[in-house]
Amino acid sequence: MEGFHWRCSECGGVRSRDQGQAPCPDCLRQWEPGRPIRGILLGEFPWEEIRSRLDPRAPDLDLIRADDPACRPPYPLPETPLFPVPRLALELDLPGLLVKHDGLLPSGSLKDRASCAVVSEALRIGETTVVAASTGNAGSSLAAVCAAAGLRAVIYIPASAPKAKLVQARLHGADLHPVEGTYDDAFRLSIEHTRLHGGLNRNTAWHPMTIEGKKTVALEIFRQLGWQIPDWVVVPTGDGVILSGVYKGFLDMVRLGLARRLPRLLAVQAQASDAIHRFFRTGVYGDAETPATVADSISVRAPAAALLAVKALQESAGDAVVVSDEEILVAQQTMARLAGVFGEPAAAAGLAGLRAFRERLRGDERVVLLVTGHGLKDVDAALGGLHRGD
Ligand SMILES: *Cc1c(COP(=O)(O)O)cnc(C)c1O
Ligand SMILES: [Zn+2]
Repeated sequence: MEGFHWRCSECGGVRSRDQGQAPCPDCLRQWEPGRPIRGILLGEFPWEEIRSRLDPRAPDLDLIRADDPACRPPYPLPETPLFPVPRLALELDLPGLLVKHDGLLPSGSLKDRASCAVVSEALRIGETTVVAASTGNAGSSLAAVCAAAGLRAVIYIPASAPKAKLVQARLHGADLHPVEGTYDDAFRLSIEHTRLHGGLNRNTAWHPMTIEGKKTVALEIFRQLGWQIPDWVVVPTGDGVILSGVYKGFLDMVRLGLARRLPRLLAVQAQASDAIHRFFRTGVYGDAETPATVADSISVRAPAAALLAVKALQESAGDAVVVSDEEILVAQQTMARLAGVFGEPAAAAGLAGLRAFRERLRGDERVVLLVTGHGLKDVDAALGGLHRGD
């Protein structure tokens, strides 16, 4: 797309499309490994030109997809269903509740959106290796997309990740580096890897295509609602990149004049992995010292996109809540039993957060609950939930 470029979310500096393979170098100077990323880039489109080409009754949202259509990997990225969940809605006394089920993407999580966008960028610039740190889903997704595209995936992943996620990455032929440590260690090692050996780094928020890819979930919601903005979107939050992507997607709708406002975003974090929640509440950033939680996909000490995530919450008049592992496991069962939706613990955290936040919502609000990963990704966690109290 002619006229596409990147803009730094911190200093506002503009970078060409080809310069967007890593954060803004000016802001990144203030960054040290193990800290939230500085200088995350956001995609900018030729808004005026696109606006003049758009039919506001049926806008072609492909016009604001950053991935080059000629370079998309042969990996299906179907629109995921957005559907009413009447029994769950009744339980919560929230008739306008809808579930957006991204656990139904091919590798079982929303991460396929980001992986496809980054792999298309690798194909566009002729890069044959893509490197990533992952709690599990980003790696299993990247491995699958790279397999389809014929690229090498190099993945740093905690050895303690749920078995299914490790199996996926191995089975798809990734060059897997299990890390005897945390996701934050894996993040540091993967950045070191690309510094020393090259390859495109797909780390979440590090490569700006991760945000452009994740934003497509917002574009789908907007279309599925008949070009309307929901009142709230509930987002399970670890690094804060899904949150940033949802924000970016709806912000693009506002910039194109298709929407007048953003939906309010509700970030849900696990009690022990609460750095974004705390930053939002207090205005002071601090790591989550020991981010151990059953919701492995949202376990992170220093969230990569902490700064941008807090901005997304502020600008959307959103909010943040934390939930306990116990609440997450209960929510996983509630969602399974009342909606027929089996989400992994991180995905169920969204419902636990919505329940904790329910009394702050009006009964007539339209709420989209984002289910970010499939429950079969971590059967042991669900089994543990079933055996609670035995
Ligand atoms: C990655 C992931 C999240 C959190 O996304 P962040 O961008 O890290 O905030 C939530 N749920 C699932 C299932 C995930 O895989
Ligand atoms: Zn900058």
